[in-house]
Amino acid sequence: MKRAPGRLVLVGHPVAHSLSPALQNAALRYARLPITYETIDVPPDALDEAIARLVAARASGNVTIPHKVAFAERCARLDAIAQRVGAVNTFRVGNDGALEGTNTDVGGFDALAREAGALRAGARVAVLGAGGAAAAVLAALERWSGARVSLFNRSSPRAARLAARFPIVDEVAKTAVDAVREANVVVNATSMGLDTTDELPAPIEALREGAAVIDLVYRPGETAWVQAARSRGHAAVDGFCMLLEQGALAFEWWLGIGAPRDVMRAALTEAIRG
Ligand code: NAP
Repeated sequence: MKRAPGRLVLVGHPVAHSLSPALQNAALRYARLPITYETIDVPPDALDEAIARLVAARASGNVTIPHKVAFAERCARLDAIAQRVGAVNTFRVGNDGALEGTNTDVGGFDALAREAGALRAGARVAVLGAGGAAAAVLAALERWSGARVSLFNRSSPRAARLAARFPIVDEVAKTAVDAVREANVVVNATSMGLDTTDELPAPIEALREGAAVIDLVYRPGETAWVQAARSRGHAAVDGFCMLLEQGALAFEWWLGIGAPRDVMRAALTEAIRG
């Protein structure tokens, strides 16, 4: 095991709603580590001061909205995955006191795609969204053999900027319908579905028969999009498995020991019910 961090935190704004403390604290208790994972709410204008305190405390942790890109810019060392995504969701302080970042959303998405049975060579993938999560999805997809992507985002300049960074994107679609039409895997990487509105990231009727549907969004009771896809006969998964795996990979990166995934899964399920 690596030297235990001085603190373990989730940095975000807002952050109180997060399920990560339940997930990580169950794993820490199971591993008998005398440390508690805490959330700290940091507004954007207080990020530099917060990072200075975390480095001084030799903290490790996660980063969430809206700080993932800004945190990456402040890391002294990024691994290859974080460099590719351009965002950090997991950090630690190295033995030399330098802030290091990685991005476990990429491995989390791979696990989700495996769960969906969608990890296949030559896949035609529609990615909806162009934020940090979409960048993590594209970084994962470019490691799939022969996958090609059609990308759609509400704000088209943002889609164009992301496509320019990822040659795997061979089409920036004008509409969500255009993006999904030929796809055999369709990924929602927008925030649509987090709330209770029934607006969908793409109409299910536009999908090809048999297309696998992956929703990064997770909310209790499943998203409206996953429900709609299942009701039309598509295999569909929501973001639960990704949430679990990105947390498990972070635990392993901080501590150098295997993550107790069954314990973490049970704690997450329990926290959601609660
Ligand atoms: P982000 O950087 O803020 O990007 C949000 C994306 O959603 C943008 O593409 C944005 O489009 C789009 N969007 C938001 N509201 C929309 C609306 N009403 N109609 C159409 N598009 C809309 O956020 P992110 O970090 O990429 O996260 C995206 C989602 O993935 C979040 O819901 C997050 O919870 C989820 N996520 C899940 C996991 C997991 O472990 N399961 C991990 C990471 C992220 P514009 O560019 O036009 O604003």
